[in-house]
Amino acid sequence: MEDCIFCKIVRKEIPSRGVYEDELVYVFHDINPVAPTHLLVVPKRHIVGVQSLEPEDREVVGHMFYVARKLGEELGYAPNEELAGGYRLVFNVGKDAGQSVFHLHLHFIAGRTMGWPPG
Ligand code: AMP
Repeated sequence: MEDCIFCKIVRKEIPSRGVYEDELVYVFHDINPVAPTHLLVVPKRHIVGVQSLEPEDREVVGHMFYVARKLGEELGYAPNEELAGGYRLVFNVGKDAGQSVFHLHLHFIAGRTMGWPPG
């Protein structure tokens, strides 16, 4: 997508602090972090959001979760045997839910305790 900010980040036309990349996804630091670690897992192919997922998108969405799981382990946030530690994974779906960028992204948020329900 020509004007999509995350497409431009994926194409490296806009700078970002990348932490992981493969053929399907790019992971980079959120520019406005809400926790000590706040990453965005983004498919390289433009998808508007969960609201527009098609059957052929299931592989990349599953891969996004798997990459998040591996990042959680590598960054030391995986829940331990007592289930302490951990991280939050969030898809905001639509404006009322807080979606502001209409290119699918999974928030990986960690490094502090978090309350529930969200505001
Ligand atoms: P959402 O509100 O769920 O659509 O999340 C969009 C996220 O993208 C927000 O947390 C923003 O801080 C983040 N964001 C917007 N522009 C950039 C950028 N250029 N680089 C990194 N993160 C960005």
